[in-house]
Amino acid sequence: MGQEAAFGILSKAKELEKKGKTIIHMEIGEPDFPTPKHIVDAAITALNNGDTHYTPTPGLPELRSAIATSVSKTYDTNIDFNNVLVTVGGKEAVFGSIVTVTENNTEIIFPNPGYPAYESATNFAGGKAISCNLTDEFDFRMTPENVNELINDKTIGIVINSPGNPCGSILTKDDVKGITEIAVDHNLYVISDELYSSIIFDNEKHFSPLNFVDNLDNVILIDGFSKKYAMTGWRLGYAVVPTAVSPPMSKLLNNLTSCPASFVQRGGIAAINGSETEINKMIEIFRERRDVVYAESQKINGIKAIKPKGAFYLFFDVKQLLDKINMNSEQLVIYLLENYGIAMLHGTAMGSAGEGYLRISFANSVENLKIGMNLLATAANDILKL
Ligand code: PLP
Repeated sequence: MGQEAAFGILSKAKELEKKGKTIIHMEIGEPDFPTPKHIVDAAITALNNGDTHYTPTPGLPELRSAIATSVSKTYDTNIDFNNVLVTVGGKEAVFGSIVTVTENNTEIIFPNPGYPAYESATNFAGGKAISCNLTDEFDFRMTPENVNELINDKTIGIVINSPGNPCGSILTKDDVKGITEIAVDHNLYVISDELYSSIIFDNEKHFSPLNFVDNLDNVILIDGFSKKYAMTGWRLGYAVVPTAVSPPMSKLLNNLTSCPASFVQRGGIAAINGSETEINKMIEIFRERRDVVYAESQKINGIKAIKPKGAFYLFFDVKQLLDKINMNSEQLVIYLLENYGIAMLHGTAMGSAGEGYLRISFANSVENLKIGMNLLATAANDILKL
């Protein structure tokens, strides 16, 4: 298995800060906002009411029902709460679902660059992770044509992630529809990681495989509370799975974690049933930051960025800088951290196809992001002069 290198960069940045260096953090992918108060209050009330015990492995029935209702409403479908499994973060939903459906030597197609857990979970389960390389030529989208070329009789699943980490790309209606049809035609699972589905800009629209099927037989939807509600540390997510996948996946979750924390699940119920006002404010702030970071990126020599349509990442090409300084993207990240005090993530942290790219997370204030982008501009000019 690999692991999420962003945590490694963060701890290296913290070490430098301990030594007195100022660092602008643009490496870690978590909203910097506090969790909305009504969610925190619900968890505190639960704790004070003694809600401190195990819950059923797939989650509190009230939370599973709230998720089923909300997903059904969003996609105009009818999800039964038995198909909802509540997990310890979206990551456990990713890991748990992939490990459950992967058999020895079966293949899962995953976006590369993409969230590292897809590849890790597939390999861990004895399967083979098949990379679908995303390129800037296609706005870092995973297209049905690309996927079709990778299908064979060992394929068991296709992972899609829209809006995507790290590229900030979103799949079009035709992309999601086409990939879902491929999954149905070949009787595969389309595993749709929708952690960023609420963070979309410029009136773009989010599509899920659930928009294009009338049953769950071939669809696994993964979502969670971390990004939408600024609840990364609560560790709460969920999977909506086919009826055949629910019992074996539940067994796996039982062995891993027994259940997510009881009072955290109460917070989750408040999040789903509560007002969206604060969420909309956060999305608006992300949009403003996206605009600033993208505008600044266009002024920097030696880098090329595509405007992110969703999530909170700018993924940009630094090949010209790498050629000049004779480094790979990971070495460049360390160089920029140590010499310019900017913490970012190398593209290869998100898969082999990320070489030549860096990722900036906008989980920082506009003021800090401007400082960070200015430092990046200085670094790029210095490197180009070498
Ligand atoms: N999926 C994607 C695409 C992510 O970027 C992340 C977190 O960064 C996750 C899943 C996991 O989220 P969580 O923090 O809820 O485990």
